[in-house]
Amino acid sequence: MATKSLKARHNALVTDNKQLEILEGGIFENGELPYFKDKIAQIGQFPLRPKKLEILQINVGYMCNQVCEHCHVDAGPDRKEIMTRETMEQCLEVIRNTAAHTLDLTGGAPEMNPNFRWFVEEAAKAGVQDFIVRSNLTIIRANKKYYDLPEFFKKYNIHVISSMPHYTRGKTDKQRGEGVFDKSIKALQELNAVGYGMPDSSLRLDLVYNPSGAFLPGDQSALERDFKKALKEDFEINFHNLFSITNLPIARFLDYLIASGNYEDYMYSLVESYNPSAVENVMCTNTISVSWDGWLYDCDFNQMLGLKVASKIKHIKDYNEDILTDRNIIVSQHCFGCTAGAGSSCQGSVT
Ligand code: SF4
Ligand code: SF4
Repeated sequence: MATKSLKARHNALVTDNKQLEILEGGIFENGELPYFKDKIAQIGQFPLRPKKLEILQINVGYMCNQVCEHCHVDAGPDRKEIMTRETMEQCLEVIRNTAAHTLDLTGGAPEMNPNFRWFVEEAAKAGVQDFIVRSNLTIIRANKKYYDLPEFFKKYNIHVISSMPHYTRGKTDKQRGEGVFDKSIKALQELNAVGYGMPDSSLRLDLVYNPSGAFLPGDQSALERDFKKALKEDFEINFHNLFSITNLPIARFLDYLIASGNYEDYMYSLVESYNPSAVENVMCTNTISVSWDGWLYDCDFNQMLGLKVASKIKHIKDYNEDILTDRNIIVSQHCFGCTAGAGSSCQGSVT
């Protein structure tokens, strides 16, 4: 497993252009595989357009206590990009006025932003219907200053969504680092202890599964059944839903694909599994993604590729929902990851 981010390793992929060069060139440029825009043009979906805005996803920083092998954010302890209080104020102004019913805080480990708790308290006052924090679980056990996070989440009725690549120690630790499985189990038990994830509880606790290698995820409902059975039997853990997510060929997963010689085969399998009925519900059609420094993107993946929205409104300080909704979404070959099989989004399958 990598112990440093690509950025810390000065890997060539850290320049956004390099990733796009790979995604636009090679097997796509020579015609072996079709471009994503041409595939969606066949069903009248190019240019891809947003529908009603439902989710405002805010990335409060790329710092993380983990350095997972497949991280599309290239997050890690060395990443210093952290949202300032000033940008948070600009986000709060938008949160108070947006038509979006869901606020989704992500990172890195969002809890590591020094203003995280203040931001949550202020954002909660806006009364959004579904307030999500994407917590990697281990942060809850990383340092005693985080031990009370389950109670904090409960106080603000936060919907906790957490990555859990597998219900076995070996597969989880391989992808996320040694010791991650045991800490995640302990954190899940602590979330259960305050009421999260219990069968009739309104304190929502969902898990996210992503494959541990260069293959597509299996059926979401079957995976959920397997996870529920194993975590209950082995550790008395309860959770609500499991979202299965396809790894997109970006940042550390792209690096892994290239280094392991799997890039071309993986792109073939994404294109071969292209499901036209997933296109109309891809995440970018109902989401706006905000980066740590306030720039706006069609989705978290475009954010990591440096592809800002194709709109005259590009920054949270100038936010205007009507103008933003009237834009074309920027697509490239990584988008095949969102339309493979049952489709994939931050909330799991889309079909
Ligand atoms: S996948 Fe999540 S937990 Fe892992 S390094 Fe990336 S942001 Fe951190
Ligand atoms: S990667 Fe982003 S822009 Fe592309 S289809 Fe998925 S959500 Fe939309």
